[in-house]
Amino acid sequence: MHANAPDDRYDLLVVGSANADLVIGVERRPAPGETVLGSDLAVHPGGKGANQSLAAARLGARTALLARVGDDDHGRLLLETQRAAGVDTDSVLVGGAPTGVALITVDPSGDNSIVVSPGANGRLTPEDVRAAAPLLAAARVISVQLEIPLDTVAETVRGRGPDTRLVLNPSPPAPLPEQVLAACDPLVVNEHEARYMLGGGAGETPHDWAPALLALGPRSVVITLGAAGALVADSRTESLDHVGSPKVEALDTTGAGDAFTAALAWRLGRGDELREAAAFAVRVGAAAVTARGAQESFPTLEEVGAL
Ligand code: ADP
Repeated sequence: MHANAPDDRYDLLVVGSANADLVIGVERRPAPGETVLGSDLAVHPGGKGANQSLAAARLGARTALLARVGDDDHGRLLLETQRAAGVDTDSVLVGGAPTGVALITVDPSGDNSIVVSPGANGRLTPEDVRAAAPLLAAARVISVQLEIPLDTVAETVRGRGPDTRLVLNPSPPAPLPEQVLAACDPLVVNEHEARYMLGGGAGETPHDWAPALLALGPRSVVITLGAAGALVADSRTESLDHVGSPKVEALDTTGAGDAFTAALAWRLGRGDELREAAAFAVRVGAAAVTARGAQESFPTLEEVGAL
């Protein structure tokens, strides 16, 4: 097969963050100036970019990750986890700053306090994206989130191939340039991100938000609704569809949105219609909430089928 022949392309390229999540369980989260004792430290691979690439690879997608980690143990953990899942990590850059970390304390009720140090994620530059131009052109779908610099996101949008579809989850929410918004197909938001993007005043229900989000410029919009599934709006067909999620016993919703988005992006690259892809993605999201953790909870295709 020729390089870059249609069947030789990546199903999905994720351009995004990779973090080590450092988690300590506490009886009570400390007040200012206070020290509390906690459980043993648990270190989990995370970050929205690494979560999505791993979720897609676990489903069987040919996936590559463009990210930056530090030359340290956390970076090596992230690289090893991605490779073990089958993600192509040739474009994960190493060095320049410590690996991004999230310092998480969680109390018995499940409430947490989190401090994020972006570290190497903040050093993934537009130049790094330009250096990966062939990879961007070879992806059927590129998925991006906002845990990397906005300039880098904008360069990814500019550098994508003519047939490459862009899926963007604006998390953590931030104002987006028009050119980035216009490229989203779809823009994927949860309820919190939808409210932020609309700045209030667009009505109270997700059914009101979908047309208002489309008016911001994306070609399509997907609003995830937790246990209620997702709402799918497409400007081309002027359609608005609700896709229900399977009923499951939710143990831990961490990473559900990332699993959903990765699944959606993969199926779009495979040629699914948006609604069809969302109907698959809610099953993946639902499967992910039945197990603890983020990356540890992402299902295989068989596990999704068994749901
Ligand atoms: P986020 O994780 O970004 O906050 P959501 O909570 O909307 O996003 O979850 C994303 C997707 O995960 C949902 O669209 C749904 O498919 C699935 N999901 C989340 N929570 C549940 C739940 N309690 N039961 C079934 N599916 C769920």
